[in-house]
Amino acid sequence: MITSQLAAVQNSIPENVTLVAVSKTKPIAMLQEAYDLGQRVFGENKVQELVEKQEVLPKDIKWHFIGHLQSNKVKYIAPFVTLIHAVDSLKLLKEINKQALKNNRTINCLLQFHIAEEDSKFGLTLESAKELLETEAFSEMRNVSIVGLMGMASFTKDEEQVREEFRTLENYFHVIQSHFFKFNPSFEHLSIGMSNDYKIAIEEGSTMVRVGSSIFGSR
Ligand SMILES: *Cc1c(COP(=O)(O)O)cnc(C)c1O
Repeated sequence: MITSQLAAVQNSIPENVTLVAVSKTKPIAMLQEAYDLGQRVFGENKVQELVEKQEVLPKDIKWHFIGHLQSNKVKYIAPFVTLIHAVDSLKLLKEINKQALKNNRTINCLLQFHIAEEDSKFGLTLESAKELLETEAFSEMRNVSIVGLMGMASFTKDEEQVREEFRTLENYFHVIQSHFFKFNPSFEHLSIGMSNDYKIAIEEGSTMVRVGSSIFGSR
């Protein structure tokens, strides 16, 4: 039973912050249980697993793809995905636009930034994000909508460091917003915060927290 964990997380999140229940690796029955308790937004990080779950679970679930997405797999989730959290290249964005067009829809995306001190292949810098947004290719895309930024803080117990990293991303949010999305109210999301740090993230301006183990148990 996840009733009390889910309720505890839901109750600790303000109304204006979206809770993405990160259900990766967890069985269908557990997602159904969360659904029955009112949860409608779920996050997955593997394409095949997401597709399998989407096929059998209720159709009003909003599925967020939160992991690294390979361009050649976009087509499998393009028909239904609500939000892609981790766009970190023009190549990927082009493919999302192409597949969204094929499905006659617009797909909402977040740009993923690298804010942690750990080395990672994934995530944009402020410079590379600006470059992407300045390309002609991006300006011609009609079937993607960039609705905000996403990032992951360092895996550390040092709360001040985590807070600083979230502040950095919040600052980037305002820079990108004023340069590229000044008149676009859809650019509004800051996806920061996981089980260990979502309370700090909310204090630092998160509009969307991605919480897995605190709801469903450890993986
Ligand atoms: C797994 C995952 C989460 C959730 O992590 P928990 O620590 O279980 O809350 C959040 N965001 C991303 C990108 C993930 O891959």
